[in-house]
Amino acid sequence: MSTLAPLPLSTQVTVLRGLGPARAAALEEAGIHTLRDLLMQLPYRYVDRGSIMKLGDLELRGFEPGLEDREIITVLGLVHDIRQTLTRIQRMALTEVLLNDGTGTLKLVFFNQPYLGRSLKIGDRLLAFGPLLNGRNGTEMRGPQIELMSRAAHENSKSGLDETWVSRFLPLYRKMGPISSLVRKKLVEDALLRAHPPEEWLPPELCRHLPDTLTALRLLHHPPDESDGRLLNQRETPAHERLAVEELFAFALGVELRRAGRLSRRGLVVPTSPDLRERLKSFLPFHLTHAQRKVFKEIVDDITSGRVMHRLLQGDVGSGKTLVAFLSMAMVAETGGQGALLAPTEVLARQHSLTFERLLGAEAHRMQLLLGPMKAAEKRAALARIASGEVRYIVGTHALFQEAVSFNDLRLVVVDEQHRFGVKQREALKQKGGDPHWLVMSATPIPRSLALSLFGDLDQSVLDELPPGRQPITTRLVATDSAERAWDLIEKELTVGRQAFVVSPAIDPSDENKVKLRDIQAMESLIRARFPGLDMEVVHGRLKPDDMAARMNRFVQGDAKLLLATTVIEVGVDVPNATVMVVDHAERFGLSQLHQLRGRVGRGAHRGFFVMISGIETERLHVLVETQDGFKIAQKDLEIRGPGEFFGTRQAGLPQFQVADLVRDRKLLQMCREAAAKAIASGLTDAQTEWLQREQERLKLAEVS
Ligand code: ADP
Ligand code: MG
Repeated sequence: MSTLAPLPLSTQVTVLRGLGPARAAALEEAGIHTLRDLLMQLPYRYVDRGSIMKLGDLELRGFEPGLEDREIITVLGLVHDIRQTLTRIQRMALTEVLLNDGTGTLKLVFFNQPYLGRSLKIGDRLLAFGPLLNGRNGTEMRGPQIELMSRAAHENSKSGLDETWVSRFLPLYRKMGPISSLVRKKLVEDALLRAHPPEEWLPPELCRHLPDTLTALRLLHHPPDESDGRLLNQRETPAHERLAVEELFAFALGVELRRAGRLSRRGLVVPTSPDLRERLKSFLPFHLTHAQRKVFKEIVDDITSGRVMHRLLQGDVGSGKTLVAFLSMAMVAETGGQGALLAPTEVLARQHSLTFERLLGAEAHRMQLLLGPMKAAEKRAALARIASGEVRYIVGTHALFQEAVSFNDLRLVVVDEQHRFGVKQREALKQKGGDPHWLVMSATPIPRSLALSLFGDLDQSVLDELPPGRQPITTRLVATDSAERAWDLIEKELTVGRQAFVVSPAIDPSDENKVKLRDIQAMESLIRARFPGLDMEVVHGRLKPDDMAARMNRFVQGDAKLLLATTVIEVGVDVPNATVMVVDHAERFGLSQLHQLRGRVGRGAHRGFFVMISGIETERLHVLVETQDGFKIAQKDLEIRGPGEFFGTRQAGLPQFQVADLVRDRKLLQMCREAAAKAIASGLTDAQTEWLQREQERLKLAEVS
């Protein structure tokens, strides 16, 4: 064998053996360009040879059908028979594969994967893991994950162990186009063999007890027999920690650098005065809460400090964020500049503009609403008013990002519901003003620990108090077969002149649970039957905006008494006379989302009711019955669903970590933040600068704030 020179991890994967054009293209597509990219994608699972069960033993175990948490079993055998049929009721493709390991047989059942019947051959050696169930003809494994260990050999297929599996743990990789798990394993081994260790770039306090990069990668792609299989599969070994710390430290460096960069810029100084501040407050129809007062002061301090404000304002539903936004914009407007408020939806933008009109009273003509679908002449006039500086308060949707919009003197941008905006859009708006101040408001409370680490380059304000006189909303959870209690409650409220919401989950036609769910049409029939002659409106995401607005409006005006909706009402509608909301299939919603929905009732003088109908996940849903504190609910939600789901996946501009997990690793992240601040203060090493540049793109560092 030739001895090859060791390669840096930044080497292109194309140097690896066995990488033809098709495979190279597949890697490219998956974002794998360098050896490091290849190695940072860890196995999704490690199979411990010792944990494989003999098929002959399976039959001896009694398995109860329908158990909630069924144990995942691993089996290995040869394909003995393959049968393709259709399911009886839904005519779904059904593939049955009979596996034999010499001690017994097991039926594997696959739904909707007809290609399996073509790709598998009798005699193939398969590894399968999944739950066991009692089928009609005995024990079977339904919907297992499988790995092809070796193809049916033409002659001697008797070889005991696969050559690829001489050690105790078999790492399994996700298939990637033409690259099977086995091919991937070979590529990885080649890469590990040829890579040389990178220069240490982590500060010593972060990696003292951890293996170096290359060792960590070796431990994870090729676990020694004495490894702890449980820790490996839970991604909790020191090697995992090493890689997680690398990601988190790079991320923390990026955040800290951006913050330092912002603080070094000269910001517009808004020439406010204590006098003006008091005058503004006296315009308001009510007294500010303590929390609003405190936050307003933080903002004023920022915009008069000579630095650029980037502040995150968090507050529970109904804590009065809009009022703080208005005051801040007024401060800018009254001192000669312009402020823009960006809303995520048209409904919300309209609502904000109504609020502003009310607050501005005789001065309302100084506000301009800008939406995407405006009549051409109307829009032209609006743009002219914005450009001339005639209007100082601008409220709008993403239409504000359009090139045609030019501001006269934009000094403050307020973003409502921060996480729904893409960074590019925010950047686009930034181009329009010099370097305006930014106030971003988050509608869903983000747990403090996460907010600090994710938005560490923003200063943070919290409205931790609700305006006085708010009554808690009576919250109930009822089982599906007791739903009558919910309808009775609605009836009672309607009788005394109140209005009601009913929320149905939006169900995707490809949803595998579709048959078991009650969709909005079914709900409409149910309500019409239960409340004959009731004036109701139905709204969902497939309506044209005009139609939607008209229907909503009938409810807002009080003409329609009941609004049946999918979650389009989550933000936006403010109907003080609506006192009850019933959510069907509440288990389909995130806790924070339910809490947002709940915030739609009990906004007026009357007591509000919130009823969730669900037969499952009652423990999770019970959190809402127990507390009305949005931050506590958010924390639970985050723990249960993880940050991706919590924020609605990529929209959030969350960094895409391979190994680190923002919830599980929050302590590590905190350590990394401290270390990053220190490293920046004392000057980054060359290795750190280089690493950071490379990671910047992968972690989407640029997308955080
Ligand atoms: P959110 O934080 O959810 O955006 P809003 O700004 O919409 O909350 O305020 C919720 C309601 O509370 C609004 O009807 C608003 O007029 C009212 N409100 C806000 N601040 C106060 C206050 N200081 N005193 C009384 N009511 C207030
Ligand atoms: Mg709001």
